[in-house]
Amino acid sequence: MNGMTIAQKLNEATAKLTEVGIENARLDAEVLLAYVLNTRRLALYVHIARDLEEAQIVRYDKLIARRLEHIPVAYLTGHKEFMGMNFAVTNDVLIPRQDTEVLAQGVIEHLQEYSGDLKLADIGTGSGAICISILKYIDRITAAAVDISRNALDVAEFNAEKFNVSDRINFYEGNLLEPLNGQKFDVIVSNPPYIPSGKFKTLQPEISFEPHGALDGGTDGLDFYKQIIDTAPEFLNDKGFIVFEVGIDQSEPVIELLKANGSFGAIQIWKDLANIDRVVAAWKK
Ligand code: GLN
Repeated sequence: MNGMTIAQKLNEATAKLTEVGIENARLDAEVLLAYVLNTRRLALYVHIARDLEEAQIVRYDKLIARRLEHIPVAYLTGHKEFMGMNFAVTNDVLIPRQDTEVLAQGVIEHLQEYSGDLKLADIGTGSGAICISILKYIDRITAAAVDISRNALDVAEFNAEKFNVSDRINFYEGNLLEPLNGQKFDVIVSNPPYIPSGKFKTLQPEISFEPHGALDGGTDGLDFYKQIIDTAPEFLNDKGFIVFEVGIDQSEPVIELLKANGSFGAIQIWKDLANIDRVVAAWKK
């Protein structure tokens, strides 16, 4: 086989990925090659004219073939960066999104105003990215992380160990707030499934590789907000607050649900980098 340099291989892979409509083809080609070479992405450019070894080419070609089937990069590498931390992911969990950092950062900022030890609940924790990153940034928090999927909890527990916060998290397998009956929290966070059931056909093919149960929010996408808001007040301490990630056009209906509940006073919307309403936060009256 003819030798191939890093530069040539990246160009070849980028062209193939572009052809099947993958948006960030060059970035994906680089991330996957860095993964095969066990190096950082930018380090590829230091050795851009170096020949790849045969075994490296074979491994890389296999990964590119899978990416061409639209399997998300994070499932191929088993990792996704969130809040500057490299979380383990498998196809049992939603891949943490950059937009969700708005939620984690906002909660960290607001919790600075509270003194003493704090308790957080994360409903539908998935990989644990939200909960674990908040705990990593604030020492005096303990957390309850709930998920209905045992396999997702295994991933979250692995991440809690990885980031040395397992002694501050209890994991619960179950539906929404149910396993936490009798407990009270200063903050409840949730990035629930919120995509309207009828919308999946219009989404990127990558989404079909993620757990459907982590994405499908019922006919109007609001099923889980309704259920959580219904019982949340009894789980919140005085001055406690609840923070939801919301999908496009969902901030208003979620605010309506919070107002209709009657237990919430102040409500805020936090925007993402694209200036879209991404998070709704509400304080108990
Ligand atoms: N942000 C995800 C998406 O748009 C959806 C996450 C969710 O349903 N909570 O693909």
